[in-house]
Amino acid sequence: MKQNKPLTAWVNGRFVPLDEATVHIEDRGFQFADGVYEVIACFSGTFLDLDAHLKRLQRSCDAIAIVLPRPLKELESLIQQSYALNPFDHAMIYVQITRGVAPRSHLVKEQLQPTLVITVRELPEPEEHKLAHGASGITRPDLRWKRCDIKSIALLASVLGKQEAESHGVDETFWLDEQGHLLEGCATNCFAIIDHKLVTHPLDHQVLGGITRKMLLRLAHAHELQVEERPWKLSETGLTECMMTSTTNAVMPVCQMNGVAIGNGAPGSVTMQLRQWMLDEFEALKG
Ligand code: PLP
Repeated sequence: MKQNKPLTAWVNGRFVPLDEATVHIEDRGFQFADGVYEVIACFSGTFLDLDAHLKRLQRSCDAIAIVLPRPLKELESLIQQSYALNPFDHAMIYVQITRGVAPRSHLVKEQLQPTLVITVRELPEPEEHKLAHGASGITRPDLRWKRCDIKSIALLASVLGKQEAESHGVDETFWLDEQGHLLEGCATNCFAIIDHKLVTHPLDHQVLGGITRKMLLRLAHAHELQVEERPWKLSETGLTECMMTSTTNAVMPVCQMNGVAIGNGAPGSVTMQLRQWMLDEFEALKG
């Protein structure tokens, strides 16, 4: 269903029209980016891996010592109610939790009431052109902090990376570690096909444990595609394909990096097969 009525957001314990949804100027999310978030996809009322997103939200909160504002079951119900009020065929649900409101000071001594915000937007269809010809990227030294495994709302480096990508006419900036290994994109995990194996950086403090990453690795294992979680470089011989994954992109081929074609410059067969397996799984979920 297309939505014509105004969007509704959950903020400060109630549903309100999005235009009227506000938080306090001393919210620590606004002052310090002191919070975490999730983006969840929902197709015709079916959420993709909602449990995994909720678990990651819990993990992110635990990592920065924010107590979940509601038990996970209640959060889940609020997410479902938010979707019911904004029922796009293809929706993305944004959930943000911050430490709460307090006079501005880095140190916060008392336990605050965390702020919980839920918004829903239409999830745009992937661009046909990009699927047919592949996305493009640039690589840059990683500007981010040393806890990229936490899904923090402090996204300044990612914003700068995305803007730099845009200014170069490409889709994504991919971060490199000091040895030149590909870590991940500003809002995507990235993978290569090297010697017919699916290769991606292992989970550590330098990458987010993407829900789509995990799904892709599971599908690869299920279809007996060999997987290697290890640091890798674009310059490796035997590298024929690259791809990126995220909740909003599923699997997207990446066919050009720093102006140089990857493989034969067209979306690779393994990438497109993986994408198809993932879409098949989404369809099966919808039932
Ligand atoms: N890596 C980063 C830095 C991200 O911000 C995201 C998504 O926002 C991802 C990877 C992909 O994660 P997921 O597949 O859970 O959407």
